[in-house]
Parts: sequence; structure tokens; C-alpha cells
Amino acid sequence: MKIDFLTLFPEMFDGVLQSSILKKAQEKEAVQFQVVNFRDFSANKHLTVDDYPYGGGAGMVLKAQPVFDAVKHLTAPLSKPPRIVLLCPQGERFTQQKAEELANEEHLMFICGHYEGYDERIRTHLVTDELSIGDFVLTGGELPAMVMADSVVRLLPGVLGKEESHIQDSFSTGLLEHPHYTRPSDYEGLKVPDVLLSGDHAKIEEWRRKESLRRTYTRRPDLLDSYSLSEQEKRWVDEWKNS
Ligand code: SAM
Repeated sequence: MKIDFLTLFPEMFDGVLQSSILKKAQEKEAVQFQVVNFRDFSANKHLTVDDYPYGGGAGMVLKAQPVFDAVKHLTAPLSKPPRIVLLCPQGERFTQQKAEELANEEHLMFICGHYEGYDERIRTHLVTDELSIGDFVLTGGELPAMVMADSVVRLLPGVLGKEESHIQDSFSTGLLEHPHYTRPSDYEGLKVPDVLLSGDHAKIEEWRRKESLRRTYTRRPDLLDSYSLSEQEKRWVDEWKNS
């Protein structure tokens, strides 16, 4: 996969792209990142990329020209157009399902905004997606772009080792993940559930399925609206409802 970030603050990406799994993913050649400063594409001799809003009002607006030209420059040599994502608090909410969908693409391009907003023509005539990481407003799109890239890249084949598998992760299964424990089995009187020490793999699996469902039922019951419960899982939920 290839991922381009169009930004006015390329230095924000250094630490994140050069650490941990994202760094390893590049070393394994699962992903190639490119950070592009779209100020370099400004047609203005002062390299400005923003201007006052038509109609007046507070804040500056990102101009269409540098962003369109940067995208045109990057896409001109390509045979297949990339998925072009505009980071935007007004966009569709980013989810694990969206990460899985984007992980099937060969090429993603993230456009990171700043200032009050974008010239609307960027939204209507340039991008394929508008995505938000939640109902709050950040200074710029760089952090959301890195959040999304991280969650997509860890899904690419071969990026996570077996011990870091994402298959059981919260949301991948439709439920929140079960609790985890590690040594010691008794930490200052706080004990690990007996079943996890039993060596009985079928029982451990059942405990994990039940705790995963319990966690979802108590913390995120909304997720159960789109999850199809097995007969056993229905009985567990009835048990908790009646207790
Ligand atoms: N005035 C805009 C509004 O009310 O929708 C907010 C602009 S915000 C200060 C500047 C930039 O930060 C946005 O263009 C976007 O790229 C990014 N941004 C802020 N919050 C975001 C969020 N929740 N998800 C994705 N991007 C966000």
C-alpha cells in the first residue's frame, strides 16, 4: 500500500511514522509513506495557502488551488486513482469497519486541513471520502490522518506478528475484546480467574466469549444492535438482564 499525506506541517509525522509498527511496516515493505507539503504547490509568490472567507467572518480558509495542484501532481503518473480522504469533523465517523475497507485499497491520500475550513470546492470536486475521528474539533487534520493510517496499516497482511494479531480486537469481531491477565496469578491478593489457569482450552475459550459479550453488553450495548447472537449468547444476555 502507498499512503500520501498532504499537509502544511510535515514535521508532525516524523515521530509517528518512524516508530513501532508503522516503522516496521515500512521495513517489511507492506507500506510506503509520502509526506507532501502542499504549500510547495502554491501559485502565489509568498506561498500563501489560505485567504479570507467570501462574505466575511472569522478565520481563514484553505484555498482550492494549492490542494488541487498537489493532488494533480501526485495522481498524474498513476494508472489507477487513489482513494482521497479529506480529514474533516463534519465527515463520516471513522470506524474499524472503515479501516478494514481502506486496508483493501492500494493507495490512500489524506488531505489534512488547518484554519477555519476548506474551500468547499475541495470537498465537492476533489475527494472521494470525508472522514472524522469523532465529534470534537482539533487544530488540524494531521493527528486524525495518523490515527487512520495507523489503524489501516496494522491490518495489512504480515504487518502484525501472530502474537499481535488483530483478529480478536475490539470491533473486529463486532464485540469488545475480553479481559486479559498476565503473571503473577495473585497480585497483592488480586487473583486471576481460576479458569485461565486450568489449562482447559475449551473452557478458556468459552470464558473469553462470555466476558467479551458481557463487556459489550455493559459498556457498549449499541454494538449488539448489529451483532447476531448465538443461542448460547442469548441465554447469557437473558441471565444478565434478569440478575
Ligand atoms: N471550522 C471547522 C468546522 O467547524 O467544521 C473546523 C476546522 S478545524 C479547526 C481544522 C481542521 O482540523 C479541519 O479542516 C480538519 O482537517 C481537522 N479536524 C479537526 N477536527 C477533526 C476531526 N474530529 N476529525 C477529522 N479531522 C478534524
